[in-house]
Amino acid sequence: MKTYDVVIVGGGFTGLTAAYVLAKNGKSVKLLESEGEPGGLAGTFQFADHVKVEKFYHHWFNNDLFVPELVKELGLEGDITLHATQTGMYFNGRIWKLSSPLDVLRFEALSLVDRIRLGLLVFQVRKVKDWKKIEHLSVREWLEPLCGSKVYKVVWEPLLKAKFSIYSEEINAVWMWKKLALRGSTRNRKGGEQLAYFKGGFGRLSQVLVNAIEDLGGSVELNQKVVSVKTDGDRIQSLETKDKSIAGVQFIFTPALPIIADILEGVVDSASLSKLRRVNYLGNICLVVRLNRSLSSTYWLNVNDPGFPFVGVIEHTNFDSPANYEGLHVVYLSRYVAPEDEVWKLNDEAYFNDAIMHLKKMFPTLEQNWIVDYRIWRAEFAQPITEKGYSGYVPSQDTPFANAWISTMAQIYPEDRGTNYAIRDGYRIAERVTKI
Ligand SMILES: Cc1cc2nc3c(=O)[nH]c(=O)nc-3n(C[C@H](O)[C@H](O)[C@H](O)COP(=O)(O)OP(=O)(O)OC[C@H]3O[C@@H](n4cnc5c(N)ncnc54)[C@H](O)[C@@H]3O)c2cc1C
Repeated sequence: MKTYDVVIVGGGFTGLTAAYVLAKNGKSVKLLESEGEPGGLAGTFQFADHVKVEKFYHHWFNNDLFVPELVKELGLEGDITLHATQTGMYFNGRIWKLSSPLDVLRFEALSLVDRIRLGLLVFQVRKVKDWKKIEHLSVREWLEPLCGSKVYKVVWEPLLKAKFSIYSEEINAVWMWKKLALRGSTRNRKGGEQLAYFKGGFGRLSQVLVNAIEDLGGSVELNQKVVSVKTDGDRIQSLETKDKSIAGVQFIFTPALPIIADILEGVVDSASLSKLRRVNYLGNICLVVRLNRSLSSTYWLNVNDPGFPFVGVIEHTNFDSPANYEGLHVVYLSRYVAPEDEVWKLNDEAYFNDAIMHLKKMFPTLEQNWIVDYRIWRAEFAQPITEKGYSGYVPSQDTPFANAWISTMAQIYPEDRGTNYAIRDGYRIAERVTKI
């Protein structure tokens, strides 16, 4: 049996970047991915006519540094595209633009005083320089006194409920602070924003990475779910899949923490397992619909109306041209739910019918014959829940083993998950492992 220098679990952007950097650093690398495609949460699928698109909507921001850096290193800088996008908010039966100070002043759902309070919020947010000082507060405890209860109720509470479902009151203030501070800095004075994409999508980018790893002598194996490990004292010797054993000198785990806990069950003590299982996650159900007509000119529509079950309606082809999707329009309806929620268990047809019924209420001109095709994707560990005092309980990269480390989405903090930080952490863990 070959012994690899480094064996990596997970072929999302963290694992792929780590494998690429390690292979570049001269290590023999093996990456094991349970799915049939690389890319993880940023992976793609094909409709029946071979049109490829992400399972879950993806873009990156114009102030993200690590995705463009990697793309440049891969020699494909010319394939980065920037697109001006429109964002909006659906509330009280209509779409409101809320990007610029002028849009905020026109937002009649609030009184003039409250509109001004909403507009001034960005300056209050910028005053916070040290996130640790607000980590003990929930978003409500921090934000409501700053913007007032009416603004909180109309603008922020519905968004939090839609995004964090049963955890909306648990999430700590840092998440909101980062979002407001980061998004504020990506907009120009008129509120416009350019978002970035890779030609052919994140699926193509992940395949480019796989090819680069293989060109450097590394190996990526798909459809290989790691189920357990074999150990010797304080070292892991090999990873076990249904039909294989893969030996290594060093190991990196990149899946969600509860999956890592399941893999390590039986070989680490119960305190370590409890720590891995302490971080809660929400799942995401994403309906991807292809239409022969466009719904609106908005790319990203936050849904703040409590009668609607999605956090967002994202018309991808208002970002990347319909010409890249056989002229059809691609729309995502995103919903975050706890996997114990009844909605999680609905079959695709029942979920689709309910979602389209709601979409028709939002867009009354939408006719059934606009719908060409659809797919539904579910990710159980889509969003880590950063509760109060998160930095005190999120597991570190170290494991009870001297030759194994964890680099996972839940460790991205105080930033929120994203491919940009997955790539950053892939670089970091690879550099750390190379030095040992
Ligand atoms: C709805 C949604 C929208 C998003 N939108 C954006 C966006 O617009 N822009 C952006 O930058 N980011 C976005 N993200 C976040 C982004 O997708 C993630 O931050 C990033 O892809 C995480 O990469 P990762 O490698 O850390 O984790 P993952 O992508 O979760 O990769 C982990 C990999 O491990 C594999 N795996 C799991 N168990 C095993 C096992 N036992 N054996 C082997 N392999 C295993 C999984 O299949 C997966 O491929 C979004 C996420 C979601 C859910």
